[in-house]
Amino acid sequence: MAAQTTRGCAFQCAAELGPFGSLGSLWSFTLRLFVGAATPNYASRIPPVIGLALEKSTRHPPLFRPQSGLSYIVSPHSPNAPPPYTGSMERTILNPRHACLLLILGFFTVHPPLAHAWGDEGHCIINRLAIFNLPSDAPAFLRSEAAIREIEYLGPEPDRWRSPSEPELVDAQAPEHFIDLELADALGPLPHRRFDFEAKVFAAGERPEKIGLQPWQTTEVWERLKAALRAYRHLAASGQDTAPVEQAAIFYAGWLGHYVGDGSQPLHTTIRYNGWVGANPNGYTTAHQIHWEFEGPFIGANIHPPQVQALIAPLQPIQGDVFDPYVAYLRQSATQVEQVYMFEKSGGFTGAGSAQSRDFAAERLAAGASMLRDLIYSAWLQSAIPVKSPWEAQ
Ligand SMILES: [Zn+2]
Ligand SMILES: [Zn+2]
Repeated sequence: MAAQTTRGCAFQCAAELGPFGSLGSLWSFTLRLFVGAATPNYASRIPPVIGLALEKSTRHPPLFRPQSGLSYIVSPHSPNAPPPYTGSMERTILNPRHACLLLILGFFTVHPPLAHAWGDEGHCIINRLAIFNLPSDAPAFLRSEAAIREIEYLGPEPDRWRSPSEPELVDAQAPEHFIDLELADALGPLPHRRFDFEAKVFAAGERPEKIGLQPWQTTEVWERLKAALRAYRHLAASGQDTAPVEQAAIFYAGWLGHYVGDGSQPLHTTIRYNGWVGANPNGYTTAHQIHWEFEGPFIGANIHPPQVQALIAPLQPIQGDVFDPYVAYLRQSATQVEQVYMFEKSGGFTGAGSAQSRDFAAERLAAGASMLRDLIYSAWLQSAIPVKSPWEAQ
């Protein structure tokens, strides 16, 4: 799940060098070497840049503690929230001498980004378990070990499209990872078609990339998968080679998994995606770190497939339209937003967290894997429905 990565947005690629030291017992200094890119709507606030920033921090020890050598992180951050979205990743302490060494080395090359949103680990777990839990009447090619490996690899795939080196792609697809339901619902019922929603957004003087396009992207990729499976059925029935279409279907299933996975992360459904906003009587964190603290290092270190597998829901195929059931899934996820903040407040995402916070995280990943399995299986079932060719339909 990532987004928040973006929020459409902006990315920073930071280079860090370790082991690190700190200056003084209360203050630490973080030097970030970054490359940023921003979407047009807030480009004026966050122009593309390459540079260095030295930050003083008095809180939140770095969650990432590279042991030695150089490592690279790419962190998205919100246009609405100047502090970096994945702030925790940037609280890395860098010895100023090492920073100088970085400069001398001319380390401005951006290496392949690491994924966000559930991190690689969460997305891979979701995609793998979705396929693992497909029923036996789903196509065998989708359930093969080779397919599972490929679909698992594809779990973080859309997060690999967030590099500043592909700025048009970053802008176009970043909003597809999230939806701020509070903002979307303020415009009335959600239309099933992407352009109808965008027209409503523009008519209200807003921008779609600030609200998010999650359910439309998910539905569209699901329909690609269904179309591929329909082609598979046709080729198989006529005795033709199905290997090429199998590859296409495997890609669509893996690609779909990313967005369904993002949808199970409650913070991908809300304006409170990375720090509480609005009335705050319970004193939830307003720092821009909670998103990655939850879905990144905490998941990676503490949640493993067996915990998630134990929480997989019974198979529940979707008949007909999937947009509304998918939005209902997002709304259920959104009911967990405050719970995420409650866990953060009690240290539930620090270190090993608590049994409750680990169960919560595993349940969220299981919700994603269960929904993905249901969507893939439903695409298979619905691909059997005869359709007119696009030319006949006109
Ligand atoms: Zn994502
Ligand atoms: Zn995320």
